[in-house]
Amino acid sequence: MTDVIIIGSGIGGLSCGGLLARYGFKVTVCESHSIPGGAAHSFNYKGYKFDSGPSLYSGLSYSPSNNPLRQVLDAVGEDCEWANYSTWGCFLPEGDFNTKVGAEQFCEVLLKLRGEKAVQEWRELQRVMSPYADAAIAIPPAALRLDLGAVKTVGKFAPSLIKHFFNVSKLTGPFSSIMDGVVSDPFIRNWLNMLCFLLSGLPADGTSAAEVAFMFADWYRPGVMLDYPMGGSGALVDALVRGLEKHGGKLLLQSHVEKIIVENKRAVGVRLRGGKEIKANTVISNASVWDTLKLIPSESIPQQFIKQRQATPECESFMHLHLGIDARDIPSDLQCHYISVKDWQLGITAPQNLVLISIPSVIDASLAPPGKHSIHVYTPGSEPYDLWQGMDRNSEEYLQQKQSRSEIMWSALEKVIPDIRDRCEVTLIGTPLTHERYLRRNRGSYGPAIRAGKGLFPGSNTPLKGLMCCGDSTFPGIGLPAVAASGMIAANTLTSVENHLEMLKELGIKS
Ligand SMILES: Cc1cc2nc3c(=O)[nH]c(=O)nc-3n(C[C@H](O)[C@H](O)[C@H](O)COP(=O)(O)OP(=O)(O)OC[C@H]3O[C@@H](n4cnc5c(N)ncnc54)[C@H](O)[C@@H]3O)c2cc1C
Repeated sequence: MTDVIIIGSGIGGLSCGGLLARYGFKVTVCESHSIPGGAAHSFNYKGYKFDSGPSLYSGLSYSPSNNPLRQVLDAVGEDCEWANYSTWGCFLPEGDFNTKVGAEQFCEVLLKLRGEKAVQEWRELQRVMSPYADAAIAIPPAALRLDLGAVKTVGKFAPSLIKHFFNVSKLTGPFSSIMDGVVSDPFIRNWLNMLCFLLSGLPADGTSAAEVAFMFADWYRPGVMLDYPMGGSGALVDALVRGLEKHGGKLLLQSHVEKIIVENKRAVGVRLRGGKEIKANTVISNASVWDTLKLIPSESIPQQFIKQRQATPECESFMHLHLGIDARDIPSDLQCHYISVKDWQLGITAPQNLVLISIPSVIDASLAPPGKHSIHVYTPGSEPYDLWQGMDRNSEEYLQQKQSRSEIMWSALEKVIPDIRDRCEVTLIGTPLTHERYLRRNRGSYGPAIRAGKGLFPGSNTPLKGLMCCGDSTFPGIGLPAVAASGMIAANTLTSVENHLEMLKELGIKS
């Protein structure tokens, strides 16, 4: 018997578990995979270390920070080493260039590509977004809980919230409602649509203004740098696991939950593959909404709820290339991160259009053997699962489709390293079926495609007593900061208001 079982060790589940353990709960995290971290796990292959998912991190290498994931690390008293960098390479229809995070250098890019008027629009957008950015960070997610205790924990921040009242109301809608009033330059609009897509899996008319304002608060502050966890995304996961375990929590790997046990209309534990049962007062699912529904005995929850949640719209999946390469005589100006867009006219969410390239061994040599580089290339949330559904992974047809659908990633990478195909010592091509299998995600989806202004991500409570959720299917949505926030909210809701206020005080989160 434990107090809380968490199904899944994604960043959402580990954030929730670590914080609950720190609050004094007995926590057991059951992870299906042999490696923790979900979409953010790292894996070793032939001497290389690869990231399965995230490549863009910010607001994590310093503290205090507004990033909820940083706040979780602070709360559990753990960290990993962070590398910093500021430059991304871009291959866009307008041209190839390097740009830095931060508002100022982007003005130089704009001046060259689009002229003075575009620079003025960009500066105006910065001006307009500034109060929204202040409003977006006025209530820290760490203060949120889904019960009446919020009156005290969120109430602390009421005075600063009142100051931002009118801006807060705008933040609940899509970012396009702000962007449309300020930006007419097509390149800036396309650029912003791309940033939105990276944040939420949707373009500006589906991404919440709050999420973009939060990004502006982080990415456009003076001296901003991007972060990368030394040792890969797995090092960040390891820090969260240490945080869980040092407060007495347990992580069980290769422990696939087959069913949530319901007794007397209450979730009371889980049954693992193989039949073992673990009982708990509360079960929290970090699996996606569709994967969670598969675990709940259907008679124990209202049919209306099942129907509604099952119909949650979903983002598409991914193609991945994981490459280990010979780095001899490699271009000396190699960057850690690149973005390539084929054609803005297709729309930023179109399949085979946007490619991200991450070469983290440029800043962390430990990720590859000496003289080599470790590369992760992916098409984020845009590869249709339907093209792959039902295919036999050993068939010739599958192999051929893998080759043809990965071509867009190879050609993007050739712009960075022209002879890349001759340098590969390890080549792994991942499809939506790989993504579904190794990340245990329904249809390999990036997550729910809930459009801002049209719907809201659900909170962590469910109609089944004793069952809560966290992760990218709950508020505030997709991405590392968001899923850490969802984990915090679920943990805060379970603990006493006193414990919660004490944690806010320790984190130095002031109103
Ligand atoms: C390729 C890629 C690139 C990305 N890039 C970025 C980025 O640059 N920056 C950023 O902020 N975000 C990025 N994201 C998004 C971010 O990684 C995810 O939103 C986040 O990691 C999801 O975390 P989660 O906790 O919600 O769920 P997940 O990571 O999906 O974790 C859920 C866990 O539950 C486990 N599980 C599922 N079912 C069961 C079961 N029945 N029993 C036991 N365990 C189970 C799974 O194995 C998994 O470990 C990216 C995602 C991907 C895939």
